[in-house]
Amino acid sequence: MRNLKTLLKSAIANPINKSEKEKVLMVVQTQNDWLKEMTERYSDLYLVSFECPNCGHVQTIADFNNLKIYPGRAYKDCIGKYVKDKGCNWSIDNNNPKTTKMLSKCRIVITEDGKEYRVFDFAG
Ligand SMILES: [Zn+2]
Repeated sequence: MRNLKTLLKSAIANPINKSEKEKVLMVVQTQNDWLKEMTERYSDLYLVSFECPNCGHVQTIADFNNLKIYPGRAYKDCIGKYVKDKGCNWSIDNNNPKTTKMLSKCRIVITEDGKEYRVFDFAG
């Protein structure tokens, strides 16, 4: 298997237009800072966990890997999109977080070439 960190870094970035509210409420960081924080918080990348901003379900990269789902979806889709009776089917690629509570549970990550994409916040 390819290096997980490389895999996470190669995640597809969907360019976004940030609203004024997002700029104030969301953590905005470079992809390198995001990956650095990830490795500082979690000793094992498979245990990195994210919280769905919509339903609050907490999921790990391992959960997605075990289901043979691209691990880069762990911070973009609620696992309920793939598993019945778990979480919800919310995806940050198809929905804009609108409420203050949801915005505070999302981050904006900026790639080296200046593209921005939204991700779920880390859990815990
Ligand atoms: Zn959810």
